Amino acid sequence: MLPVVALVGRPNVGKSTLFNRLTNSRDALVADYPGLTRDRKYGQANFEQQQFIVVDTGGITGDEAGIDAEMAQQSLLAIDEADVVLFLVDARAGLLPADQGIADHLRRLDKTVFLVANKVDGIDGDSESAEFYSLGLGHIHQIAAAHGRGVSQLMEKALSPL
Ligand code: GDP
Ligand code: MG
Repeated sequence: MLPVVALVGRPNVGKSTLFNRLTNSRDALVADYPGLTRDRKYGQANFEQQQFIVVDTGGITGDEAGIDAEMAQQSLLAIDEADVVLFLVDARAGLLPADQGIADHLRRLDKTVFLVANKVDGIDGDSESAEFYSLGLGHIHQIAAAHGRGVSQLMEKALSPL
């Protein structure tokens, strides 16, 4: 069995962009419309000889009803079956209540979680992402999934315990 890495977070934080980068595909739906990827989506990825499965999710809005509830359910299932969770937040949008809700859920689980502040391109990543320390998930891994910045460093750490 290959290790499973799940990408979770609010809609629009860049999960599918990271998925596509990790799998070298354009398969996952990436769009300006929050929440377009409704289902869990699996891809095979490779980083420095290590193979793993990456799971993209639609996202958790924290205000679940109808389709949002389905999306959140998929995210919870993805977290469940993952060996490692990459919890993405948006350094440009800043800390939102939904981020807090997801963090609260993740802290209750016995899972390895990496807190990832995406979209640090063209902004001061250190100061823009500092507020995410309040999520209580430790170190903030800064990346720009769209450009690849910080992704190797993140994956090196995320995959090393697997
Ligand atoms: P998802 O809903 O979490 O899957 O988010 P997407 O991957 O669909 O991305 C949402 C939006 O954020 C899209 O417009 C992306 O182009 C944009 N985006 C993703 N990664 C980055 C990044 O590293 N920097 C910037 N500036 N925008 C990004
Ligand atoms: Mg998506």
